Amino acid sequence: MRSVYVLRIGHRPERDQRVTTHVGLAARALGADGMFLAADDAGVVGSINDVTARWGGNFLARDNVSWRRCIGEWKQKGGTVVHLTMYGQRMTDVIDEIRAKEKVLVIVGAEKVPGDIYGMADYNVSVTTQPHSEISSLALFLDRLFMGAELMREYPDAKIRILPRKAGKKTVEK
Ligand code: SAM
Repeated sequence: MRSVYVLRIGHRPERDQRVTTHVGLAARALGADGMFLAADDAGVVGSINDVTARWGGNFLARDNVSWRRCIGEWKQKGGTVVHLTMYGQRMTDVIDEIRAKEKVLVIVGAEKVPGDIYGMADYNVSVTTQPHSEISSLALFLDRLFMGAELMREYPDAKIRILPRKAGKKTVEK
């Protein structure tokens, strides 16, 4: 079973809470196992954990992570480090190679990323080679990594579930 975690760096609690929460929610909904946050922000972790408690699964959200140590330990355990940046190699050129890896750590930044990250990553990956956002690049990367299988995932321990409908809203609660 492949394990995929996201490492969110550059988070500024005073302005990035919403985006970082959405990085975590996108990671969870699109099949990642957890998000490490390289900042002190219990609020973001709490919001993601609230969603997991209601909507199911075992998504791990952890703050106060040292990005340098996280990357070092990941590589020590034989994991692969992928840094999403508009300056990287085209995703379409490397995604098949990355899909063959057992453990993948996906780094996304906020504003300027420390220069060392480019050298520490096994892959610097660009999703389109145009500037956009950490949420859109992560979503597309995970979808290509899992080849769409994540879209059909079920959460058997969920307290609430949506019954998809053409119109209106229908949920079931346990
Ligand atoms: N100058 C930054 C860069 O190196 O990509 C752009 C900052 S952007 C507001 C925040 C984050 O979004 C980046 O750190 C990167 O993880 C992600 N990102 C933005 N555009 C991307 C792209 N085309 N491909 C991959 N990641 C991208």
